[in-house]
Amino acid sequence: MAEIRRYKATLLFGAPGVGKGTQGRILGQVPGFFHLSCGDVFRAIDIGSDEGQEIYRFLSKGELVPDDLTYRIWRKALEAHIALSSFKPREDLLVLDGIPRNLTQAETIEEIIDVRKVVHLVCTDQEKMIERMRRRAIRENRADDANEQVIRHRFRVYETETTAVLDYYPAEIISRVEALGSPAGVLRKLLDVLVPVQDELFVNRPKPPILQSGL
Ligand code: AMP
Repeated sequence: MAEIRRYKATLLFGAPGVGKGTQGRILGQVPGFFHLSCGDVFRAIDIGSDEGQEIYRFLSKGELVPDDLTYRIWRKALEAHIALSSFKPREDLLVLDGIPRNLTQAETIEEIIDVRKVVHLVCTDQEKMIERMRRRAIRENRADDANEQVIRHRFRVYETETTAVLDYYPAEIISRVEALGSPAGVLRKLLDVLVPVQDELFVNRPKPPILQSGL
């Protein structure tokens, strides 16, 4: 049986509105990092399709999309990026944002993902995050963040279903990063954590010997 390849990844983990998407998008511009947001994958699906309609039902209420549907769509998106070479697994550290969101997903993605680092973005000021989400809803036309009740429900879902994911990973690979402050300041802290991971996995790794013919 062919061996299934597991992609080396870091998770951007944290409550809604903490800045995972903003930081992920910036990191994704840096060579050697590839950012994939599960929420972005869902929002890119044609809302007129049956699948799009089903996803929208959950997104608009701030509920999690069912695990099997999430894994199928997210995996297809990841494989499409590999086929298009936008994600190059031999060169890029995969930066996952928005997945896993519960223990089932944490177990399921292990089939293809090798989590090397979990960055836990922390902001204790929930009102500040809600304010950010409201502004984002207008800027990005996001149905889920336009309504304060839905936003507050998203926080409850995070507390009841998602925070347990942190206990799934060994404490040694989890780094806490304070998410308040300027995007550049947070980015500097993130890079302090992630550059050594990238160096170890891709930059300082001994290259395979070049095969020399005729010797
Ligand atoms: P985000 O862009 O990460 O804030 O996600 C927006 C919404 O997409 C969430 O509130 C969920 O409805 C859905 N979603 C994103 N990622 C997942 C996931 N891993 N599992 C289930 N639902 C998700």
